[in-house]
Amino acid sequence: MSPTKDQVWERLRQVHDPELHRDIVTLNMVKTVAVCEGVVRVAIELTTPACPLKDQILKDVRAAVAELPGVREVNVDFTANVAAMSPQQRASKNNPLPQVKHIVAVGAGKGGVGKSTIAVNLAVGLARTGAKAGLMDGDIYGPSLPTLLGLGELAPRITGGNMIVPFEVHGIKAMTIGKLVDPDKPLIWRGPMAHGAFRQLAMQTDWGALDYLIIDLPPGTGDVPLTMSQLLPLTGAVVVCTPQKVAQDDARRAIGMFRQLDIDVLGVVENMSYFIADDGKEYDIFGRGGAEMMAQEMGVPFLGAVPINMALRANSDQGDPTANFTGDPKLASELESLVRNLAGRISVHALSSAFQQPTISIS
Ligand code: ADP
Repeated sequence: MSPTKDQVWERLRQVHDPELHRDIVTLNMVKTVAVCEGVVRVAIELTTPACPLKDQILKDVRAAVAELPGVREVNVDFTANVAAMSPQQRASKNNPLPQVKHIVAVGAGKGGVGKSTIAVNLAVGLARTGAKAGLMDGDIYGPSLPTLLGLGELAPRITGGNMIVPFEVHGIKAMTIGKLVDPDKPLIWRGPMAHGAFRQLAMQTDWGALDYLIIDLPPGTGDVPLTMSQLLPLTGAVVVCTPQKVAQDDARRAIGMFRQLDIDVLGVVENMSYFIADDGKEYDIFGRGGAEMMAQEMGVPFLGAVPINMALRANSDQGDPTANFTGDPKLASELESLVRNLAGRISVHALSSAFQQPTISIS
């Protein structure tokens, strides 16, 4: 005999999200259940299309429902709706970009570690999973997005309402100061000017509705992160670091800065982690694992490692980040794993606060 829908719902309460430690029914991820002659169909809404736990959830749902007597087949349909920050988190600050669900800054202790490269690939990678992603070049002193995104001769457009229309390239919306000023002129900003430039980029760009807005910050611990933290309600920050000791020391300072600004560090990325030679041999040029160890010591999640990769460098120079996901399968899978890990941390961040238990103190 076919099980009832209620029995299936009950079984689904046994399936837990391994990171949120709650069942998928309580988390409101199960949208519909249908049963017909032993064939069960379950619709599940993931908290991000880049969900790192999708395969695990599929396996667990199948196993849990298959245990019911009379089940012949279990079909699972996935959709995704990026979980936004809880109203409490949003209410804690004015939100000048209410249509953007998550704002994530990418920072680094020092320049040249691949911060912009990682920021670009995170945004493009998120968009490739089906999310609406944007990328803002907050590196107002040394904007690299015109090159990294291959913006070439494209010129920004201004709308009637004096808003800047972002560029739509590689599946993302992007804006950079590099397209608003003379590209050959050195960008010297005094404190208040830096504040104004960042503010204009963030507020005067017509971002529209986005699941994720990635902000590429200038390296170090200067004015811009302070402006950003006062202006925007961030979900958190990612710190990019190469494995060497000196890079770690600077990354620690960047983590300390985000903490001081009350911005959660969502994770550390170890870039230029190692090098794979033509013969397949791996060389730990900078001391692979250094950034991961530092992340552990600082008590922040590790999102993944990206090796030194010549194709990544060439695609970056050519302004073609899409090629990173369609060429070398190893590079693509490393970047995709990074994207999934970040999206997972963001979901955990958004949902864990939404499901926080009130604390009762009795005196
Ligand atoms: P940052 O933003 O930290 O100053 P960039 O992202 O501009 O650094 O990267 C500096 C240079 O290093 C660029 O030429 C970029 O293409 C290259 N690069 C970054 N990461 C890698 C990598 N994993 N493999 C090869 N080249 C890389």
